[in-house]
Amino acid sequence: MSTCESRLFQAAVMQSWNAIVITDADLTVGGRVEIANPAFCAMTGYTLEELKGQTLKRLQGPETDRAVIDELRICLQEGRFFEGTAINYRKDGTPYTVHWSITPVRDDEGKLTHFVSIQQDISEHVRADRENRLLARALDAASDPIIITDTAKRIIFANLAFANVTGYAVNEVIGMTPALFRSGEHDEKFYAELHTSLASGNDFRATFTNRRRDGSLYHAEQSISPICDDAGRISHYVSVSKDISERVDIEHALRQAATEDTLTGLHNRRHGEQLLKEAQRRAQVQGTPLALLVCDIDHFKQINDRFGHPAGDRVLRDIAHILRHSVRSRDKVMRWGGEEFLILLEDCPQAAAVELAERIRLRVAAHRDAQVGACTVSFGLALRKPGETTDALFARADAALYEAKRNGRNRLSLA
Ligand code: GH3
Ligand code: MG
Ligand code: MG
Repeated sequence: MSTCESRLFQAAVMQSWNAIVITDADLTVGGRVEIANPAFCAMTGYTLEELKGQTLKRLQGPETDRAVIDELRICLQEGRFFEGTAINYRKDGTPYTVHWSITPVRDDEGKLTHFVSIQQDISEHVRADRENRLLARALDAASDPIIITDTAKRIIFANLAFANVTGYAVNEVIGMTPALFRSGEHDEKFYAELHTSLASGNDFRATFTNRRRDGSLYHAEQSISPICDDAGRISHYVSVSKDISERVDIEHALRQAATEDTLTGLHNRRHGEQLLKEAQRRAQVQGTPLALLVCDIDHFKQINDRFGHPAGDRVLRDIAHILRHSVRSRDKVMRWGGEEFLILLEDCPQAAAVELAERIRLRVAAHRDAQVGACTVSFGLALRKPGETTDALFARADAALYEAKRNGRNRLSLA
């Protein structure tokens, strides 16, 4: 090697950013330091003079992992390469985590003469890693579901609460997008708002209906926030949610109880009155026809008297079922009184309403209850006149019903 080259080698070792230390190969004492570069001195706090001729055992202390040192000794004794991580101590006693490698150096005859060790203080990495793990554990300990996605919407983190609520294992959702949980309950406008809000760096808060792994739905009050990197660019999104299914279910049950007739499942009268008013307003504004069909079971009192109240209830339920399945989906069927029903037909001309009443009349008459046998219904039909109130419209339909009853029942009468 030329003097020029050997100078370069020396400069390279001494100026290396990594800590480099070269010891002799005398393992009876443990390898004495011959050369240590400034990076090694800076890392350990010792000067080259203090290190020269000394072994590096002085860097070890109470927290130094004995198993790593034992492995190191075996490697060196066998003249093998070693790599490991352990805690060492600086001259002032402060600990640091070092990751280092040791390579045996041989002369031209192949005789082991030295060991060269390249070292790096990785305390900061270890600390950051520990902090990350602590944060991940804290997120796992949180009782509310949390996910973190990257800008491509892929999930990079999901906590245990999220796994519990959705029924997915954490590793099943990593790499997937939240589209996996779409229930189909939200329209494109909803997702467009979500997208716009997040793209402009704002939070998005909404009640989401999501789908679990088993296909069932749950409701979550969800807040999604962008996370920015050091340069201020959005790098991730964090979504924190609260499972509010129970509350939504209760609200739904209350709403149903308030609007539904418990025996038949039809709209109850209170809700029916509201539906009637709304329909009347629409008919007024749009000038579309509005038909009101009142339907009453014939001689129902006799059914109760002869077969008992439970049989009467069964007939009411059966007839309600026939009514509901005879109308168009937009028509409203309500239980107006004991055995009296109201059918609200919006945008329905008279001929169609007459046809519907006839269809229902025949279906009811054809129905047989095992105990009660057949029964019939009578109808009164009225079409809204311009400017007419709901009360006046109903009074005319009711009068027509009375007429149908008087004329022998099992028939329709027009107002
Ligand atoms: P019409 O042909 O003239 O309509 O005679 P009707 O016997 O059907 O009429 P009425 O109004 O005299 O009798 C209605 C009966 O409906 C009286 C009441 O006991 C019964 N009813 C009302 N609500 C219920 C209910 O929820 N269940 C049962 N089983 N019966 C009911
Ligand atoms: Mg009756
Ligand atoms: Mg009646």
